[in-house]
Amino acid sequence: MPFFDSHCHFDFAEFDADRTQLWQRAMALGVNGLLVPGIEPAQWPAAQTLSRQLPECYFALGIHPWWISKIATDPLALHFYAYQMSLLLDEDKTSNQPHCIAIGEAGLDKNIDTPIEQQLDLLDWHIDLANQFHLPLIVHSVKTHNELIAHCKKNPPLYGGVVHAFSGSYETAMQLIDMGFYLGVGGTISYDRAQKTRATFARVPLESVLLETDAPDMPLCGEQGQRNSPENLPRIAQLFAELRNESVETITASVWENTRRLFALA
Ligand SMILES: [Zn+2]
Repeated sequence: MPFFDSHCHFDFAEFDADRTQLWQRAMALGVNGLLVPGIEPAQWPAAQTLSRQLPECYFALGIHPWWISKIATDPLALHFYAYQMSLLLDEDKTSNQPHCIAIGEAGLDKNIDTPIEQQLDLLDWHIDLANQFHLPLIVHSVKTHNELIAHCKKNPPLYGGVVHAFSGSYETAMQLIDMGFYLGVGGTISYDRAQKTRATFARVPLESVLLETDAPDMPLCGEQGQRNSPENLPRIAQLFAELRNESVETITASVWENTRRLFALA
């Protein structure tokens, strides 16, 4: 069964020197696809270009919460970005293999200075676009799960989504799953101090989990300070399987089905 890295910033400069070779090594390990999240409008065409160079590389369109303060987000600017997004999606749909499979990464983060009201406005903007384009939503949520849950009850993403790099309690996880979200599991579970998140991923329904590296960030325990890479995805699957006392084959088969279901992959 193949692995799919559901969250990998493979377009980042950290990979410029050896991207193609690295991807071949990852494929040799069984990683046969990855999803590059959208960060800001200026990065979208590069994500699309990468997906044309590496056909196993899919992309999403969105504005990461950390980028909100770096770009214009007045109503006119947002209107223009939505228009840009629709052009890229039209172009992608008419290509022989569409590669834009999600909207995001959108989200909320209590560790940044951008006021939460402004972050919520942008989250709504993403949800409306995901619903308009019939696509799932990639969500980044740091210390904001309650706000996310409350907000998505008012404005639900109709085509599901994933809360990437989920960290939190089992109860919170189940609330998100009940709302139609998948949870992304990555290198966090390799850290002993992440006991709450490890306990959560040991118990949540396997049908609601996606694997991710979040490379180049989120290195595995023991590799702090080094570049993370999609080559580490099989190790994350192994750790996840050990955590649940299940075989890596069971985990991989199930997660692959989840990935296909959420992103409507063939
Ligand atoms: Zn990310």
